[in-house]
Amino acid sequence: MSAQKKWPDDSAKSLSVDHGQNVVAKLLAWYQREQRLLPWRLSKDPYHIWVSEVMAQQTRIETMLPYYQRFLEAFPTVQALADASLDQVLTLWAGLGYYRRAENMQRTAKILVEQYDGNLPDSYETLKTLPGIGDYMAGAIASIAFDRAHPAVDGNVRRVVARMLGFSAPFQSLVLRKQVTEWVKEVIPAGKAGDFNQALMELGAVVCLPVKPACLKCPTEELCIAKKLQMTEILPVRSGRARPADENITVVMILDHQGGVLMRKRRENLLKDFWEFVLLDGHVETAVLADRLAEIGIPVKDIAHVGTGKHVFSHKIWRMMNYKAVWTGQRVPTDYVFNTIANLNNLAFPSAFREQAEWLHREGLLKD
Ligand code: SF4
Repeated sequence: MSAQKKWPDDSAKSLSVDHGQNVVAKLLAWYQREQRLLPWRLSKDPYHIWVSEVMAQQTRIETMLPYYQRFLEAFPTVQALADASLDQVLTLWAGLGYYRRAENMQRTAKILVEQYDGNLPDSYETLKTLPGIGDYMAGAIASIAFDRAHPAVDGNVRRVVARMLGFSAPFQSLVLRKQVTEWVKEVIPAGKAGDFNQALMELGAVVCLPVKPACLKCPTEELCIAKKLQMTEILPVRSGRARPADENITVVMILDHQGGVLMRKRRENLLKDFWEFVLLDGHVETAVLADRLAEIGIPVKDIAHVGTGKHVFSHKIWRMMNYKAVWTGQRVPTDYVFNTIANLNNLAFPSAFREQAEWLHREGLLKD
């Protein structure tokens, strides 16, 4: 940035009311013409919109689409979701990550059945009282499903508006969230609130990309402060993001003579309620593995190292050392059970351990 360049917030302050109205008109016309045809846009069903919005948080649309279709096939109504077991819900969610979202959805579905006749309420404030529904989600559902004039400000919208208005507060800051929310509140058009919010999200998803925004395809190019000041690569201002930390773990697949594998349901926050093999902290060497397992009441023999694996979460990376071993004990330790293939298929099983499960299947080590 040159020393002479005017800091963009000065420009934003001098923008007229007309500027906001022009942005709205151009965005709505563009959205009408260019929006991607997505299943929930065809339906307007509040339940479909809710499912799509929850799945789309932190996940790309192309990735979530098959999950969305499978989820609605299994749970076509709020009632069906409320009636399902948590294992069934988590099984369909496995691979999407951020599993708390699925748990909250089911808690909310039960509340909707008990208190709202199985329907989503149309009020922004009431929506916000439900588990897992915060400012963004309530704004998205209220505006898209019920055309209530509330902002729905996610990361895409923050980036688009920060550039268009030239806001220079850091991307993650409360200041920027507030500035963007206030601007959307000012300009959001009555009767077209859902389309306007979706137009902003869509522009962020397909044109105003984080790196190298496609300004030549942008309907608001001539109204964009970042473009005018040649600051599209600088705004929004990013502070450095920490790289996910590495965590070494040892995964042991312990088999019994009936073709089962020893597993437990997790209680930890990460992957809570999903099933795991026996896990130990750190990379445990083969020579001491039997002793480490005996310490937690799991006697084994015939230990074999069967490779390594990796699973990336948003905030950490599991680097896994994988073993198989044969159970020699009499009493299965508390919390653990031996699962056969038939059991495994009905359990919430996280994608973190999919490679190991596939290996067990390939080797024919589990029985039906
Ligand atoms: S002109 Fe470029 S930077 Fe500005 S909103 Fe459009 S795509 Fe984003």
